[in-house]
Amino acid sequence: SVPLTVVAGVGAASRFGVVFKSGSAFEELGGIRAMAFDKTGTLTMSSPSVVRVETAPEYTADDVLSLAAALEQHSTHPLARAITDAVAAPPASDAEESAGLGMTGTVGGARVAVGNPTWLSSGHLTAKVKELQGSGMTAVIVHREGEPVGAIGLRDELRSEAAEAIGLLHEDGIETVMLTGDSEASARALASAAGIDDVRANLRPEDKSDAIAGLTGRGRTAMVGDGINDGPALASADLGIAMGLTGSDVAIESADIAFLGDDLRLLPQAVRHARRGRRIID
Ligand code: ADP
Ligand code: MG
Repeated sequence: SVPLTVVAGVGAASRFGVVFKSGSAFEELGGIRAMAFDKTGTLTMSSPSVVRVETAPEYTADDVLSLAAALEQHSTHPLARAITDAVAAPPASDAEESAGLGMTGTVGGARVAVGNPTWLSSGHLTAKVKELQGSGMTAVIVHREGEPVGAIGLRDELRSEAAEAIGLLHEDGIETVMLTGDSEASARALASAAGIDDVRANLRPEDKSDAIAGLTGRGRTAMVGDGINDGPALASADLGIAMGLTGSDVAIESADIAFLGDDLRLLPQAVRHARRGRRIID
């Protein structure tokens, strides 16, 4: 893995538990004009829970959750953890993850898939899925032998300090935007609670990095993420910031700055600190 060093001369910054990979990353932070945020695991607590299950007529909620859990026990995604916490998982074979989309595999001899509604058709459950998303939930579809057999509604809490942190960034003239692989409806609910007015939804990991490229007209852009499905975006931003590190090497390797803590108010604090630093240097 990459050796990290706290740059001498920005020692005060290490009080915040922030690691800069280079001195220029610290300077860059002071010049940021826009900050993009990943949703799940960055703006949210990253501890979603299953709150509703919609099923096809011949399936129970338990059937649907069990099929999903069988695959999700092979994923480290926060949604996967929520589903495996909700029910006992039967064994699966050939379980495979498609980053930012979901899982496929074989359960009890049947082909099963669980994931994003833009990736797996919701069929006769479409209205129910819209309803889940409309009330701010993340909806994942469960397929068995290519047919939708259920939809799982999950809820993740906005971090309690998110709105304050976003407000402080806006005070400092920094525009904010949310980038997410989740639906427009559930993203909007969370973004408005956080005070973020620009939302890009239904993005796969590579779309997130394209979205970053599209923000460059606004000036130097930072991307804040946890490394799960946002590695390419962290790498393509002028400044990649990893937060709430829980052992995601990907985040550390693709980021320029790593915060050891997960309090979002560290971001405006560090920006202010870097701006003061710049003035002293200038
Ligand atoms: P975000 O952009 O909100 O941080 P991700 O990019 O990690 O979220 O995932 C985007 C979407 O992809 C999720 O909302 C979900 O629909 C789907 N997804 C990703 N991984 C999984 C998984 N392991 N199981 C089910 N769905 C998943
Ligand atoms: Mg994420």
